Order: sequence, then structure tokens, then C-alpha cells
Amino acid sequence: MNRLMLDLGIIKLASPGIFHLLPLGIRALEKLKSLIDKEMHKINAQRLALPALTPAELWEKTELFTLTDRHKNLYILSPTHEEAITDLLASIAPLSYKNFPLRLYQITSKYRDEMKSRFGLMRGRQFLMKDLYTFDIDMENAEQTYSEIIKSYENILTKLGIGFSQVLAATGNIGGLISHEFHYTADVGEDKLLFCSNCNYKGNVEISGQDYCPQCKSTKIIVRNGIEVAHTFLLGDKYSKSLNATYLDRNGLIANLQMGCYGLGISRILGAAVEVLSLEQELRWPLVLAPYKVVIIAPKGGSKEEVLTSGLDQELYDNIDKLDGYTGNILLDDRNHLTIGKRYLEARRMGYPYIIVIGSKATETNPLYELNEILTNKQHFLDKNELLQHF
Ligand code: ATP
Ligand code: MG
Ligand code: MG
Ligand code: MG
Repeated sequence: MNRLMLDLGIIKLASPGIFHLLPLGIRALEKLKSLIDKEMHKINAQRLALPALTPAELWEKTELFTLTDRHKNLYILSPTHEEAITDLLASIAPLSYKNFPLRLYQITSKYRDEMKSRFGLMRGRQFLMKDLYTFDIDMENAEQTYSEIIKSYENILTKLGIGFSQVLAATGNIGGLISHEFHYTADVGEDKLLFCSNCNYKGNVEISGQDYCPQCKSTKIIVRNGIEVAHTFLLGDKYSKSLNATYLDRNGLIANLQMGCYGLGISRILGAAVEVLSLEQELRWPLVLAPYKVVIIAPKGGSKEEVLTSGLDQELYDNIDKLDGYTGNILLDDRNHLTIGKRYLEARRMGYPYIIVIGSKATETNPLYELNEILTNKQHFLDKNELLQHF
């Protein structure tokens, strides 16, 4: 499906694991970003942006892109921002307990010199991540926050309409106390997930091996490949302690903040969603991410249909463009040099959810338009009112 995204000009490879995001690709990404912003607003998370360049002292990880400035100071291109955000909090510490809970997130490029960058947007060396960091005054509040954020991530993924699994995960490099991952199950997934049909345990095999359920020891298990689309960690004071991110408690005493971090792979979700939904020759998008929802295919220039339906294409466009949820989400494909058939096939390959064709039936006294619903594979012939009703 990565191939289709490249062939259809959604993205273009710039160098290994690094992509140009072309106009349609950006539209889909922006939709995902704005859906996430809305969900973050609901849980009182505020957006900020931390720099991509970070002094190298904070870092001891692999997969780093490093660079040196003219004064011979070593920098890295940030692969994630736990250290940077904790450092930011430490630089304004100690805040009062009254300032918490605090939830800060960003949607920025991350850089990792991946050993194997492959599957297009799913494993890039520069990729877009939404990373949220939470700060609470004690573990009880931090745990409460953790479950609230997990719910919010479930809401985001549910809106995309692709089934996902939330599994127990290893804390790995980032560390912390509890960790979960969200996965799309798919053959190309590079993680292995264990599902126990005896006790319903779900976990990444990184913590569990693949032979039996680590919770109930049953061998009634299924192991499937997963694409990790999000990863959450209850960190506790792992970072706040070493970097001095503190606050003043009710008694005026200095205490460490309790943190959580929550990464959502924005560009990976786009690549993975298309991977899971698409057909061999045709892209498919989650309805909420399709670069445009509707495309109108106008008659070919100079054809009998064009002469007889003159102006109808624009009128239809204007009418649909006024409808709630469709404004700015509709395309008029009036490329004169291409036949209707060619443009229709192209629109199908692009996976626009609704394709309206102004064909021969539109020349009749009571003009009928052809509406193709791509996601359900249905075709209707409707007059203008019926068509508008449909949206
Ligand atoms: P993976 O196991 O696939 O290498 P990760 O565990 O290293 O991912 P995290 O550090 O947990 O990734 O980052 C948070 C999220 O960022 C991941 O859940 C994933 O959605 C996304 N992500 C990580 N690496 C990449 C990448 N190379 N390209 C695109 N998205 C990525
Ligand atoms: Mg990784
Ligand atoms: Mg992982
Ligand atoms: Mg991870």
C-alpha cells in the first residue's frame, strides 16, 4: 500500500525513510491532527512545541541523529522529548501543587536513525508523532490521569473506524511502571501480540514470550502481528527525580512530580490505516481522513453532455460545499482532456469516499446524477435534491 501511496502521489520518497508529504497526504495528516487537537481539548491538554534540536548531554540512546554546531557543540535531532519536557518543567520549578495536573502535548517531527526504515510512513527516519506528557502531584493522581488518557486515545482510534487492540507492553528504554500499546493487527506488523482465550490477557510478546499466557499460564493463546500505533507509559518520578522537576506541596515542601508519557504515531497511523483498509489497486482511507470526501466528475469538454448540462457541475459543487462537514472537502474534477471513465477510475484508486458522475442521465429533462459510494460499493442515480439529501 506504500506503493500505492507513492504511485498516486500522496507521498514521495526523499531519501531512505524520509518523505515529501504531497498535497493529498498533507490534507489527510492535517485532518488527523485536528481530530487529535479536539480530543486533547476535551481532557484539558495544552499544545506546545519543543525544539527538534536538543543539546546532546541529555541523551544516551541509540538511533540518534547527531550533529555539531560551528562552536563544536554536539546536538541531536530529538527522537522523543521526555528529557526535554522534564527539563523545561525543572527550569520553572518549583511550581505550586495548585498548578497541577498539567497536560502538555505537541505534534512535531521526530528523528530516529532506524536500522530498517521500511513500509513507507509506517517506519520513517523522520516522522510525525503526537506526544503528550502529564504531570501530577502524587501517584494516585498520576494513575487517574493515566486511565483518563488511555480512554482518550481509545476515543481517537475509535473515530478512525479501524479495529485496534490495547495490549500490555514492556517499559523498555523509556522506563516507568506500567505501559500499554495500541496496535492494528496486520500481517506487515513488526510486533507480535499474544492473546489468551482463557483469561483474556493481551500483551506484547516482548514481556511474555510466545508459548503460554504470562498471566494464567494457559497455552490457549493466539499470536498475531501488530502495528504499534500508540504507546503509553506511567513513568512515576523516573525523569522528574533525575532532572529535578519538582513542586511545592501543601506543606511548602519540595517534592518530585509524577509523570506519564503518551506517544501517538501520526504519520504511522496514516500509513497503517491505508495499509489495513486498501485494496490491491485502490487506496482506502478512514472516512474522517480521506483527503477529500466527495469528487464530482464533470462531462468532458466539448461533449454533448457538457453542452447540455452547462453550469450544473459548479451548481452541484456549490450546493454540496455548503453542507455541514463537506465545506472545503469536495473536488470538482473538470480536467477536460480526460474521459469521464479515466477520471472515474482515478478517483476510485484515490479512494475518495463519494464519487459523483455527471453522465448521460444528467442531460435528461429531469437530470439524474450517478453517486458511487466507494466504502459500501453502492451506486445510485439521484436527482439534485435526493443527492443533497444523501449528504
Ligand atoms: P517501534 O517498536 O515500531 O520501533 P517504538 O516502540 O520505538 O516503535 P515509541 O518510542 O513507543 O516507538 O514511539 C511512540 C509512537 O511513535 C509509536 O507507538 C509509533 O506509533 C510511532 N513511531 C515510532 N517509531 C516510528 C517510526 N520510525 N516511524 C513512524 N512512527 C514511529
Ligand atoms: Mg523503535
Ligand atoms: Mg515498540
Ligand atoms: Mg513503543
